[in-house]
Amino acid sequence: MAVEDACGKGLSFTAMGIEETSSVRNGRGPSDQWADSVVVRPRTTERHITVHKRLVLGFAVSILTLIAVTAVAVLLGLRFDECHEEGAAARPSNTSTSRANQSREPHVNHRDEDAQPWRHLRLPASLRPRHYDLRLSVYMDNFTFSGEVTIEVECVNATRFVVLHADRLEVERAAVYSDSKKPGVLRVSRHFRYPPTQVYVIALHRELKPLRTYKVNITFVAQIENELLGFFRSSYVLNGERRYLAVTQFSPTHARKAFPCFDEPIYKAAFKISLKHESTYLSLSNMPVEMSVMDEDGWVTNHFSRTPRMSTYYLAWAVCNFTYKEASTDGGVVVRLYARPNAIQRGSADYALQITKRLLQFYEDYFKVKYSLPKLDLLAVPKHPYAAMENWGLSVFVEQKILLDPEVSSFSYLMELTMVVVHEICHQWFGDLVTPVWWEDVWLKEGFAHFFEYVGTDFLFPKWNMEKQRFLTDVLHEVMLLDGLASSHPISQQVYQATDIERVFDWIAYKKGAALIRMLANVMGQPVFQRGLNDYLMTHMYGNAARDDLWNKFSEALKRVGKDINIKEVMDCWTLKMGYPVVTITKNESLDNTVSISQEHFVYDIDAKIRNPELFNVSFQWQIPLTFAMGNSSHISSESVIWVSNRTELHKISLMDEGMWLLGNINQTGYFRVNYDLENWRLLINQLMKNPTIISVGNRAGLIDDVFNLARAGYLPQNIPLEMICYLPQEREFLPWHAASRALYQLDKLLDRTEEYSLFSDYVLRQVASMYHRLGWPVSSSNGSIMQAAYQTEELQREVIMLACSFGNKHCHRQAVTLISDWISSNKNRIPPNVRDIVYCTGVSLMDEDVWEFIWMKFHSTSAVSEKKVLLEALTCSDDTYLLNRLLNLSLTSDLVPDQDVIDVIIHVGRNPHGRHLAWRYFREKWDILNSRYGEALFMNSKLINGVTEFLNTESELNELKDFIRNSGGGAGPAFARAVEIVEANVRWHRLYEQSFYQWLRKSPNS
Ligand SMILES: [Zn+2]
Repeated sequence: MAVEDACGKGLSFTAMGIEETSSVRNGRGPSDQWADSVVVRPRTTERHITVHKRLVLGFAVSILTLIAVTAVAVLLGLRFDECHEEGAAARPSNTSTSRANQSREPHVNHRDEDAQPWRHLRLPASLRPRHYDLRLSVYMDNFTFSGEVTIEVECVNATRFVVLHADRLEVERAAVYSDSKKPGVLRVSRHFRYPPTQVYVIALHRELKPLRTYKVNITFVAQIENELLGFFRSSYVLNGERRYLAVTQFSPTHARKAFPCFDEPIYKAAFKISLKHESTYLSLSNMPVEMSVMDEDGWVTNHFSRTPRMSTYYLAWAVCNFTYKEASTDGGVVVRLYARPNAIQRGSADYALQITKRLLQFYEDYFKVKYSLPKLDLLAVPKHPYAAMENWGLSVFVEQKILLDPEVSSFSYLMELTMVVVHEICHQWFGDLVTPVWWEDVWLKEGFAHFFEYVGTDFLFPKWNMEKQRFLTDVLHEVMLLDGLASSHPISQQVYQATDIERVFDWIAYKKGAALIRMLANVMGQPVFQRGLNDYLMTHMYGNAARDDLWNKFSEALKRVGKDINIKEVMDCWTLKMGYPVVTITKNESLDNTVSISQEHFVYDIDAKIRNPELFNVSFQWQIPLTFAMGNSSHISSESVIWVSNRTELHKISLMDEGMWLLGNINQTGYFRVNYDLENWRLLINQLMKNPTIISVGNRAGLIDDVFNLARAGYLPQNIPLEMICYLPQEREFLPWHAASRALYQLDKLLDRTEEYSLFSDYVLRQVASMYHRLGWPVSSSNGSIMQAAYQTEELQREVIMLACSFGNKHCHRQAVTLISDWISSNKNRIPPNVRDIVYCTGVSLMDEDVWEFIWMKFHSTSAVSEKKVLLEALTCSDDTYLLNRLLNLSLTSDLVPDQDVIDVIIHVGRNPHGRHLAWRYFREKWDILNSRYGEALFMNSKLINGVTEFLNTESELNELKDFIRNSGGGAGPAFARAVEIVEANVRWHRLYEQSFYQWLRKSPNS
């Protein structure tokens, strides 16, 4: 599943100029650690009105009945428990633990569990589904559906209970049949829902016998919800007429909202689905339609082919009246992109369709495993909780992540979209074909898909240099920011219950997962890495695997080439512990040609180590594959790899001259920071000033990110990073600029309300000025050439313009105002798409209210999805608090702003120094509404909480935050703890470092 890698293109103005508090993958920022995904609850009570009244009554009656039945069941269960006390106590503990490999389970009373298996948080392992026959009738007129499922199950352990998941379904009938030589109905003593674990229980008079198969048959009715989970609806307007569609989102635990099933990833089975609906709609599912039967009454039933063995959360179907475009791979896989008819007509689907076709081929070659299904449909929907979802053969995308209008889309939009597509196609292997055993290893599939976003995009556009370059700023630097907090967590997290499952989908899973996989791929070397992956996929296809299965395959692949590395041992220290090390390399003064290398847990808040000694166990060490090189003004030695596993080690190196510097973590392939003695930092800075190109582009970006973060955490004096960026006028490459601007915007957030702020902003502007004048502005709308050769220059130009406008370059401001005025007077938008966000925001901030109204009007009238988002964000750049207030209120209480964009509006208002307190106050006032609407959303709450608090930096603001958390009763899990830690760090930075920071700036010869 891809979550939006939030476009933090928000620029906002200080009195000095724009400030982009989050830097960007072209606008993507470190403050946007939490993705844009959202599960939105309905805005109105519409859902309750449109619900079929009979259904409501039915639900009410059934809920009452179930409460009564459950009470009886509990009593019966207790009695059952008493009877079996001895036997039950003697039985071994739960089978699901061993089955689910590494999953650690909470302490449960095993007697209860055996007696009342429905109370357990995981399904009992007594039954295994083999095949589902699912028939659904879909009523789009009243948004309900009815269904009948027949599940062929195999009995593993004798049991009297059929326990399977069902949520929000009204079960009408449930029966169990023997499937053996003597077929017949088994007598059901009772069947009931057990809401706490979202299961449905069929209790039988007699036990089911091991090794026999049975059929479970259940009929049910339910609503097509207006909430983006399970089987849900959404709508769009075509030629003035509202049209509806219904589509599924089952990951991670919502298949149970659409049909009764064994809704855990380990229970793979084959599915045969049929969908009946009015023939004015078409229907799609994972497999192609095998047979279509027309009824006389204008209804049609589509029977889809049987799926291979798969997990329930990858099942999907849709009922809509979209049209499509089609392409075929050389291997004969049919790829179709379905979208609203006007988008298909406009050609907005063409780009994604073409790259998908090429990507299927790419992955087949890379993994040496064929795509498993005869077709792959991509469905572009107006509303979706995530950027996209990789359902096997029917992947669903939110429109903004798959439809492209080349003439108005910026480069960053194109890149983001490309990467989402690359991500989802990768999942067809890593996820769909081989599925993690349990959710604690969700990072395995997400980390891989995120890593392959860069590898796959390099295949499509080799000149973008994604894996070697862009990965550093957008993944590595970003996640190290998050994982350097004391409130971080290990990448493999214990998962006990549904709420834990939501929690594991975070940036640590995606980005740290990808960074660790990249480190491993570099240690192993690509051919061996590829062989290991192939072996892993071939061994576990159509099944499940856990991280140890992958580590074993990698160790085996290494062994075959004569390398004996225990990958599990290496990787366990990276996956089971939170955070990462800082490696310090210093020249040994007493021993010639020797360096001392030490490691410690990097953390921004050094006091945290004292407060939580158990979290920062000093005896814990990582096994670090450290590459390093030595260099002087004209030459750099070839790198060598050493494994660092002790706290401090001495290493011999070849002869070193006086002026030679050391450089660690070559091309930043490792997931750690590197620190040096001050003398070495000075040598490196001198090298950059004289001739930066001796050091690779990746390492230049890496040095910048390390130096700023080491200083921020107090490992280095504050002037070292400021001295380093003096070399920027010499820097011709995009990536180091990108790393620098990310770091500068981080600092800017801390500084923009300080008295001497202009010392800082002037200093930045001086480093930017010469490059800004050299590169100038893009002349006209891009004509598609950006796709390849021009990428580096255009990205650099954009980055420098953004810095210039943000920190108050007068020429940059004038240029933006001229472009906006020209647009208003001519009503022709000639602003190059790549800088539109900067120009709109600058214009809104500097010009009068009419410009705000003009942008507001354009926001309503444009139909291009990419442009709409940019316009909306520009509205948050105003310095008029009345307008900002109006925008906030309109966003939350009207239908003018799409649900999933409301959070972004609040966050972007918060990034605007004129809107900060407004956003912070608004957030606190509306917390109850926001929490009830977005509370269930993956990523959403943490993103919002981070967005409105990250700039708080005084003692009194910290107290405000703590008071608020106390009074609101928490409720947002780890997000509040993280917010407090970040604000505490801000306060501490001011107390400890602000003075020395400004002192250096005042004295700087460069000032
Ligand atoms: Zn994914």
